[in-house]
Formats: sequence, structure tokens, C-alpha cells
Amino acid sequence: MAVRSAPGLVRIGAGPDLAFGHTAAPNDRAPYARHVVLFTSGKGGVGKSTVAVNVATALAQRGLRVGLLDADVFGPSVPRMLSLQDERVRWGHDGKMVPAENFGLKVMSVGLTTPESDTPLVWRSAVATAALVQLLEDVAWGPLDVLAIDLPPGTGDVQLTLAQELPIAAAVVVTTPQTVATDDVRRAIRMLRESGVPVAGVVENMSSFVAPDTGAVYHPFGEGGGRMLAEDYGLPFLGEIPLDPRIRASADEGTPIAAVGEPAQREVFAGLAARLVAAVEDRENRQTRVPADAR
Ligand code: ADP
Repeated sequence: MAVRSAPGLVRIGAGPDLAFGHTAAPNDRAPYARHVVLFTSGKGGVGKSTVAVNVATALAQRGLRVGLLDADVFGPSVPRMLSLQDERVRWGHDGKMVPAENFGLKVMSVGLTTPESDTPLVWRSAVATAALVQLLEDVAWGPLDVLAIDLPPGTGDVQLTLAQELPIAAAVVVTTPQTVATDDVRRAIRMLRESGVPVAGVVENMSSFVAPDTGAVYHPFGEGGGRMLAEDYGLPFLGEIPLDPRIRASADEGTPIAAVGEPAQREVFAGLAARLVAAVEDRENRQTRVPADAR
């Protein structure tokens, strides 16, 4: 099936063959990546893209070769967060798209394929998922240790497509503490489970706010919601990220706090990256371990 573009919308290229796989035995559309990691949330606005960008940056700082695919097709904010919003997609001699690069990350986003950075994407979901498969297959990613994917919020077509088209090493579930967010995240966790996607754990964003003038600690979105969610589903709790105006400012400025922040701010994301790597390695070891009765 070809990627069709509605009038006025960009056509990324020739459409891929979309014989979708099955979640129980997914296709491998990213054989160039050792591990595929999803960043997901039930609800928009909880900071999923912020977490994806900063954890990916922290993974690159560990010396890993990291690609970041912005799969949030209707709200691609990754380019802005990495100062890449003015880049437009380039095609290499091999007929593949060349990923943009900054902060040690290779980056691709539908946001880079539109004529202008504010061109709206008014795509039916079949077109959006086809475009996403193209960003997996028709981009010259080169060999990667980690392909990190920033998903759109919710439990829709894009999530399902990725579970069918990629062997996923880990999903990181991002939430904020309040019940209105965790309710939706519960649905996202169940979808991942039912699709056979391994969940590495839960990250709680915007956990606490330290008043810069008094040093008093506030919990504007409540306390402990992410940890409780992790416990309810028997998942690791990967850590908390404070509500910090400098995280917001660095995202708007396109300079991830994991790269340019104070040591304590960088440490938050370095810690998350370390726990994610440990979860992926642990799963890999368990998969390759020879069962006792076969030794
Ligand atoms: P999502 O991807 O879940 O829709 P974003 O990552 O786009 O959410 O974040 C939504 C907004 O919240 C952005 O303006 C971002 O800069 C801001 N933000 C995210 N996390 C934090 C945080 N820990 N502290 C302050 N602002 C944050």
C-alpha cells in the first residue's frame, strides 16, 4: 500500500509494504537496532516527550549509539526539544532519509518531513501508521545500540502497529502522580501487556516542586501515584522527576537538561538511563540463559 497524502500534505516517499505482523510474533522493521525502547503514556501532557528526549540524551552520554524516533505523528515535539525544528528531511544517495543529529542523537520525526515546521498533519490513522513504518525502514539510521521511540499518548493504532512491527526490548511508562493521569496510564500498561510488550517500569514526572525562594517542597499533582501504579502492576518503579521550571525552559530552548543542566538535574536522567539499561540487560540475560535441565 502506498503512503497517500491528502492535498497540501507532504508525501514522505514511496509507501512500504504493509503486511502487518502479529503482536505474538512481531516483524522486525528495525534490524539495525540492538534494542528498541518505547516511551509511552496514557495521557498527553505528562512529559513523555521530555522524558524520552532526556533519557535518550543520557543514554548517548553513556557512549551508546542512540536513535530517537518521534512517533508522536500528530504532535511531534522532539525536533523543538533538540533545536532541530528548522531542519527539513534530506534524502541520501541510497534513497534513504538522512536522520538529523544533535546532542549525540540521530533523530527522525514526521515534523521534519513537512514543508514547514508548523504544517499540520491531518492524517487518517492508516496513513499515519504507514508513515511511521517508513521512518523505521526508509531512514539511514546506521547501526544503533538503542532505537528510542516517543509514542503518541493513548492506546491507538500507532501503539498497536509498533507492537506488531518491532521486537521491543522495553517500554518505559511515563505518568504524573494524579489519578486523572494514572487512570489512563493503567489502560496503556494493560495494552502493552496484552500485546506482549515488556514493560521496564514506571517513571513519575512532575513529582514535587521545590520553591526556589523558601526551599519548601510542594506536590501540586499529589504524591506517590506513580509508585502505587508500579506496585499495582508488579512493575519496577524507575524514578521520580521533579517539576522544575528549568526542565520546561530547556525543552523550549531545545537544549535538553540531561545535557546542559546542573549536575543534580543531569543525575536524575542519568539514573533513569542506568536503570533502563539494567532492565534491558537483565531481560536479555534471562532470555539467553540456558535452562538448568538443558545443561
Ligand atoms: P507529553 O509528551 O506527555 O505530551 P511533553 O514532554 O510535551 O508532554 O511535556 C509537556 C510540557 O510540560 C512541556 O512544556 C514540557 O517542557 C513540560 N514538562 C515536562 N516535564 C516537566 C518537568 N518535570 N518540569 C517542568 N516542566 C515539564
